[in-house]
Amino acid sequence: MRATTASIVALTSALAAVASGATTGRPQNGRVCCHALNGILPNDTFLPNEQVYTAEFNNFWSSTEDLNPSCVFLPNTTEKVARAVQLFTRLNCQWAIRGGGHSPIPGAANIDGGVLIGTNHLNAIEINHEENYVRVGAGNRLGAVYNALDPHKLVPIVGRYEDVGLGLALGAGFSFLSNREGLTIDNTLNYEVVLANGTIVNANKDSNPDLWWALKGGNNNFGVVTHFHFQTFPYEGTVYGGNVIHPESAFDEVADLFYDYHTRQAVDDVLTHAMPSYDYIGATDVADATSLVVYNAPVDELPPIMQPWLEVPYSNSTLSRRTYSSLAHEQGSGIFYGLAVDQRLFSVYADREFLKEAWQIQLRWLRARRDVPGLVGVQVPMPITPNQVAQGIAKGGNALGLDATEEGKTVVVILMLLNFNNLEDLPRLRREHNALMEELVALAKKRGVYHPYIMLTYSGAGQEAIASYGRENVARLRSVAKAYDPTRVFQRLVPGGQKLPRR
Ligand SMILES: Cc1cc2nc3c(=O)[nH]c(=O)nc-3n(C[C@H](O)[C@H](O)[C@H](O)COP(=O)(O)OP(=O)(O)OC[C@H]3O[C@@H](n4cnc5c(N)ncnc54)[C@H](O)[C@@H]3O)c2cc1C
Repeated sequence: MRATTASIVALTSALAAVASGATTGRPQNGRVCCHALNGILPNDTFLPNEQVYTAEFNNFWSSTEDLNPSCVFLPNTTEKVARAVQLFTRLNCQWAIRGGGHSPIPGAANIDGGVLIGTNHLNAIEINHEENYVRVGAGNRLGAVYNALDPHKLVPIVGRYEDVGLGLALGAGFSFLSNREGLTIDNTLNYEVVLANGTIVNANKDSNPDLWWALKGGNNNFGVVTHFHFQTFPYEGTVYGGNVIHPESAFDEVADLFYDYHTRQAVDDVLTHAMPSYDYIGATDVADATSLVVYNAPVDELPPIMQPWLEVPYSNSTLSRRTYSSLAHEQGSGIFYGLAVDQRLFSVYADREFLKEAWQIQLRWLRARRDVPGLVGVQVPMPITPNQVAQGIAKGGNALGLDATEEGKTVVVILMLLNFNNLEDLPRLRREHNALMEELVALAKKRGVYHPYIMLTYSGAGQEAIASYGRENVARLRSVAKAYDPTRVFQRLVPGGQKLPRR
């Protein structure tokens, strides 16, 4: 027990503040909130002078998330989350919710001067073999989920990098089997949620179905999710996959290859999966295309439909027969932590010439900035095929609004990622990176290939992902928020990340 006299005094003064009507208007001082929290849940609350606080301070992918919460709260039960949320709502305390900490949007999953709820200790993984799902605590990383399911020859539809968290299940989510099963949100059967008033509810197709729909894209605007139930699918225990590296000299053919994947391979054979990817390293002035390529079946070579990946001259490949955990491990092992990151995202209908040109323009832009310390630039054009959209509709619908624009064409979300060493370079580089994206968007509009969707999970600071779901869906999201959070707690007191548009 670490409840001190000071914390009890702070709790008393906080409660006095509530009695005097402090639940509206200015948020409560974070230190007062932390002392009050420490008073009721001392074993789970960590103040800035404690080792656990320091470890959690560094538990983010990007340095753009380095902020100074007044304390870190690491609950290990849903009930503790509920008690804390009740307290925060009563005292008017601000807080942030962190899954795996992989959003680079400043403040998306961290906060200055409020409470950081880290979900790490919510780490259950329980397989339900009868009903084909796995119940996963919100603090798990994807590697743990694959590791638990692989021995049972089961696979969920979650991300592809072992260290990344589960935030994708509130935004979109591309996975190895997405061409067959759709996005992560469409394979999330149930969310266990703590609402603003501290009530614990389940949201699924039968219970609170409006909340279930809203969480499928609605991010942290409705509650703190403590557990996800992901549908599981049987597989043979191994698949064929790895990374294929194509050199810059082959970029023209690589662009054709990516287009072929977007519009033919991913559409005609739902067992295909690829994450087409270009990158550029400023220090060496080297550009290449390192793409994850997977065939979701226990084969010993790529089938004919995926042979184009090996027909274009390549410099290296890690393709082999392996488990999903092994693939997630390989992806995760190439990731750097602690760098400054800016990411931008926009969407187009798949178009060979546009996609070819878009990377050439981005590459020229990167080369012009090669002297920025630690500069690495990436472009990842990922397809949303008509079947992915259809899966979303068939599995209960989601908030993304893609069904409204479905025209039987592949939509490509284009992630532009920029890494560099120094945070001081962030304001200028973000401005210029955004201007580059606007130039590409203008070109896409001129060519008639622009699509308005902004995928929340890869969106950058200042991009209004939820507004891109369309007016009707935004209105529906607002009405769900009004029903489950009538005093707008998750808009006022959880300020970070992609919020519901105000108008
Ligand atoms: C290296 C890397 C690899 C990636 N690979 C993939 C991939 O293969 N497929 C894919 O689709 N995406 C991928 N992404 C994108 C990734 O899915 C998103 O960045 C996602 O939001 C990360 O989730 P997180 O829990 O780690 O992030 P966080 O930054 O912790 O959370 C993101 C947002 O979700 C909210 N949130 C998180 N957990 C909860 C909760 N329990 N309750 C309420 N709100 C919550 C947070 O408040 C925050 O606003 C990748 C990102 C990186 C950096």
